[in-house]
Amino acid sequence: MGLLSLGTPLAWDDTKKHADHVRKHGITQFLHIWDRLKDRQGDELLWGDEVEYMVVTFNSEEKSARLSLRQSEILEKLQSITDNIASNQGEAHSVPTFHPEYGRFMLESTPGSPYTGNVPDLLLVEEDMRYRRRLARKYLEPNEIPMSMTSYPLLGTPGVFTEPYHDPAGAVSSHSLFLPEEIANPHARFPTLTANIRRRRGSKVAINLPLFIDDRTPRPFVDPTIPWQRNIYPEDSEAKQGAALIDHVYMDAMGFGMGCSCLQLTFQACNVTEARRLYDLLVPVAPIMLALTAASPLWRGYIADVDCRWDVVAASVDDRTEEERGLKPLKEDRFRIPKSRYGSVSLYISDGWLNRPEYNDIEAPYDEAIFEHLRGHGIDSALAKHLSHLFIRDPLVVFSEMVDQDDEASNDHFENLQSTNWQTVRFKPPPINSPIGWRVEFRPMEVQPTDFENAAFAVFVVLLSRAILKYSMNLYIPISKVDENMARAQRRDAVHTQKFYFRKNVFAPGTTSPISTPASSGTSSPIEPNSNGIPFKKERKMRNCFPPPMKPESWEPEGSIEDEYEEYTLEEIINGKNENMPGLLRLIYAYLDTLDVMEPEKVKIGHYLDLVRRRASGSLITPATWIRNFVRSHPAYKFDSVVNQEINHDLMVAVDEIERGVREAP
Ligand code: ADP
Ligand code: MG
Ligand code: MG
Ligand code: MG
Ligand code: MG
Ligand code: MG
Repeated sequence: MGLLSLGTPLAWDDTKKHADHVRKHGITQFLHIWDRLKDRQGDELLWGDEVEYMVVTFNSEEKSARLSLRQSEILEKLQSITDNIASNQGEAHSVPTFHPEYGRFMLESTPGSPYTGNVPDLLLVEEDMRYRRRLARKYLEPNEIPMSMTSYPLLGTPGVFTEPYHDPAGAVSSHSLFLPEEIANPHARFPTLTANIRRRRGSKVAINLPLFIDDRTPRPFVDPTIPWQRNIYPEDSEAKQGAALIDHVYMDAMGFGMGCSCLQLTFQACNVTEARRLYDLLVPVAPIMLALTAASPLWRGYIADVDCRWDVVAASVDDRTEEERGLKPLKEDRFRIPKSRYGSVSLYISDGWLNRPEYNDIEAPYDEAIFEHLRGHGIDSALAKHLSHLFIRDPLVVFSEMVDQDDEASNDHFENLQSTNWQTVRFKPPPINSPIGWRVEFRPMEVQPTDFENAAFAVFVVLLSRAILKYSMNLYIPISKVDENMARAQRRDAVHTQKFYFRKNVFAPGTTSPISTPASSGTSSPIEPNSNGIPFKKERKMRNCFPPPMKPESWEPEGSIEDEYEEYTLEEIINGKNENMPGLLRLIYAYLDTLDVMEPEKVKIGHYLDLVRRRASGSLITPATWIRNFVRSHPAYKFDSVVNQEINHDLMVAVDEIERGVREAP
């Protein structure tokens, strides 16, 4: 999570009254950062991951696995342990950090200091992730295990799914039929976020995932686990009034989405221009990586017909009013807003020549006054659009102590809106008074059960980030096609069933592929990279500061953007199809060949890249498919789409055994 300011949250009506104040000062704060740091140059590649866990309490006699709500005690303990290690080691920077998350059963961990571009750091990632997990594991209760599961299968089911039990009747923030108040981190920020999303929207959030219809699933499926007749909160009747769809898994609270875990990566760029270029390059990659990491087929005790968390999280924080959602004509509100504030990126932001305005082809409302203000300050239109689009949202939590700020010394109002716009990729300006530069955060991936997998995807993406910059790649496709890819990525078994829009020629005009031999489509495997005959000094370091592609003198944008892309399988996108589309992996291998990589490093990195290669080819299944298969082949499964306590327990045991390496899994 972002910042956890301490203080007293304002009541919703007062928060609303301060919305313009927060936006205005937020932009002023951004402009101060901009003025100071827009010309900042030469920051090296630093990067890091965030891994989120759920703490699960096992009881083997009862065959139960429940969410432990001991977050506060656990974090306090881990904090004292890491402080201790730091003072003994005398170098605080290498000791991991644990952070709170939305769920009171969740933890997040990050490396104590970011990785550098040094090649050996690529091998540190898995080691560091394992170390973090070991630390957490060691200082939990003996029956508690930190698990990197994207969704918890029994969250919100009738009966007991937390340790200790709490009754959903007391959910004063969410008014959920399913989740108790105690599901969320008690820090004032979280219950306030939860309640204000509901208040702003004018109803509870409504999440409906298509149910996976199995052989004996009753049809039409009217969920017997929904307390249809409950009458505690005014919103209790929403379910029967149409919020809960037939043949769907219905969920009604922020906790269902923000209680999911994920794997995020942050990269420091050389300067703001490179950050914006990298941001745009990663936007079309996001759905591809979501599909390859799919890990969440089970929701509220059912098997869903989707494999990913993304749309659940989006719906779980959808604070748009009926007017904003287009259900009523605009009267009170200013905009029709097509997406939730958690959603895929709606605008490319680079000011480079490759970013044709036509690619931003979806409706992305923006605040015109803020846009003009930014333009007046010399900000180019692409960045001004991005910011004034993020700033159509209202702040959801305002602390009374924080209303008046020194805009030169604080970025709190800016971060208030920035950090509650949860997109697939985030453009992160430097914090105030810190050595940190312009960064880009890659956010779509689902967390994997094992640190080998998490490290593999982290290493794949950091190498990809270097390759796409170095080889002057152009990955632009219309944003509407990226959004279509996001929808496809979440479908059941997307790797096998879906094709994805991607550019036909992934290189900028005037540049050529670093790969001389065309890929033999179909049975592609990483092929010996070439060196193009150009002599270069190999370094043991991945760098920043790649010169952006030069615009060829005679070049004019030609033809319709519709001719620039077509549909590919994931296998083709990752492993290659032809000369113009050699496959992201082969570009990574070509890039690796420009580095001085030692043999054991090559082997290890090769294992990581093989995982991605085989996920894409389908020869290795995703965690989602593995979990789905596990449930459907469990003796207690009745082919009725239901995941019961026992199946859940055995699944959690199996996932933990896989993580510890005592059970084999494909
Ligand atoms: P947030 O929750 O706001 O996204 P976190 O602080 O949890 O951010 O995680 C940020 C990640 O960025 C961590 O992996 C950290 O190691 C990494 N990081 C820290 N400093 C830098 C930097 N200068 N450049 C790139 N990454 C960094
Ligand atoms: Mg997090
Ligand atoms: Mg974090
Ligand atoms: Mg965060
Ligand atoms: Mg943070
Ligand atoms: Mg993050």
